Amino acid sequence: MASLISGVDYPASWRDFMAWFPDETAWLGFLERLRWPAGFACPKCGRRGEPWRQSRGRLVCRTCRHQTTVTAGTIFEKTRTPIRVWSAAARQLSTAKNGLSAMTLAHTLGVHYRMAWAMLRRFRVAMVRAEREPLSGDVEVDETFVGGGYAGSSSFGPPL
Ligand SMILES: [Zn+2]
Repeated sequence: MASLISGVDYPASWRDFMAWFPDETAWLGFLERLRWPAGFACPKCGRRGEPWRQSRGRLVCRTCRHQTTVTAGTIFEKTRTPIRVWSAAARQLSTAKNGLSAMTLAHTLGVHYRMAWAMLRRFRVAMVRAEREPLSGDVEVDETFVGGGYAGSSSFGPPL
């Protein structure tokens, strides 16, 4: 069973972080791996395989031509939070050994508590979903991510 390894599957330090996610494209790539650990799968027809890639992160299924994005139907869809803030939050989360409170995150990033809380919630849902993706195996995450019985979909289908 595969595990997410610090420094390999997610950045272990701020320095790693800047190297991994220098721009939005890199960040979207990270989200894509998180969402489709076994490779892109069309949310409409289910076909696995490299999609066509269009501008603005649009992915097009080569079989049914369904257009999607890595954030469509996920907790990251339609966020107005700047990509840099998401990135910084992800970094905080990936290095927090004993969990990360919204208060701490808000303080660290200099954002409102409510925004920090909303981001943490989104990340937790994403991690739980990633863990449930059959081919991703066990995901080594903080209890902060996996606590509680999230009653969501077991796959990355359309929003419930
Ligand atoms: Zn398709």
